[in-house]
Amino acid sequence: MTTYRLGALYGDGIGPEITQSTIDILKAASQKVGVDIDVMSLPMGSTAIEEYGDPIPQYTKEELEKLHGWIMGPHDSAAYPEQYKVNRNPSGELRHYFDLYSNVRPAKNMAGIKGVVEDTDLVIFRENTEGFYCDRNMYLGSGEWQITEDVVISAGVFTRKATERIAHEAFRMAMQRRKKVTIVHKANVIKLGTGLFKKVCLEVAKLYPEVTVDDYHIDAMAAHLVRRARDFDVIVTENMFGDILSDLTGELVGSLGLAPSINTNDKLAMAQAAHGSAPDIAGQNIANPVGLILSTVMLLEWLSARHHDDKLKTVGKRIENALFKTMEDGVKTRDLKGSASTTEFSAALIANI
Ligand code: NAD
Repeated sequence: MTTYRLGALYGDGIGPEITQSTIDILKAASQKVGVDIDVMSLPMGSTAIEEYGDPIPQYTKEELEKLHGWIMGPHDSAAYPEQYKVNRNPSGELRHYFDLYSNVRPAKNMAGIKGVVEDTDLVIFRENTEGFYCDRNMYLGSGEWQITEDVVISAGVFTRKATERIAHEAFRMAMQRRKKVTIVHKANVIKLGTGLFKKVCLEVAKLYPEVTVDDYHIDAMAAHLVRRARDFDVIVTENMFGDILSDLTGELVGSLGLAPSINTNDKLAMAQAAHGSAPDIAGQNIANPVGLILSTVMLLEWLSARHHDDKLKTVGKRIENALFKTMEDGVKTRDLKGSASTTEFSAALIANI
């Protein structure tokens, strides 16, 4: 039997609490199904700064490369000492270093969770390596230049290659879903950059004639999502637009704390909740671990397809079903108007497994 080796990056703020919870749940479910999963903890975040002088040490990257996949807790990079802010933040660095070009961020209403919208089931494909995130859109250095104390240039980078590959990911997924893709851009103003993004997506669309395509400007899309989120299925967009829209869709279906994501390329995958390290609630045992747990379910599905091992998918299903039951039973964290602590929620979920 294959032993799957997964990395765990606990990170900062609520990271250690929700990552521990996720690993405990993963271990319980994999034992039940009879799949061997080894979890290797690797340094990332402020503890890595203390030990290695780097929030994402080379050692961590070298070890991650040897593993089947990783679970990444959030980092509080905004709070790092100034000298550690010059490089990309840990997740930006991993996405750039391993070329994890596709960030998949679903948003779906769940039974027992009151959202701002209803009947919504959509998935955002966010280009993950370039666009307006200038800390990671250069081969070397950063795409920001300070001309004078009061003048800064921040560059957006758009390439045919990166757009084509995220568009193909989105259209392939659309073929397995409602066969509908929405392209989000701002081609009326950022005519060349997001114009190229829109043009290349429309070219890729021609290769999937069964898929219906429409497109919206990013600002209008924010309004359309609040007004009629249920009408959307697969959304494809550039890096920063995707980051912003997915926080919005996470909150629309209940809470940012529920929002999962996975970062992939053709060989590697990293599970990572859409939210940050929530320093305002860190260390209080009240954070919602669902975003990271569902990200791990996505990782299990990805691993199952890559290694042709249905048992991994079964582990994911087992976790997902237990999670839905736990929430339907009314066991929820405070962001969902419940009263369960992080550890109480995890214990209830494990009991349901
Ligand atoms: P945030 O996502 O950490 O928090 C936004 C709000 O959502 C806060 O009120 C927080 O309490 C709440 N929230 C987030 N996750 C939650 C959860 N699981 N359960 C309950 N409530 C939750 O965004 P921020 O405050 O802008 O960023 C804080 C830090 O996180 C910064 O240092 C930022 O750079 C970093 N960050 C990291 C990642 C990542 O690791 N991928 C992503 C975004 C931000």
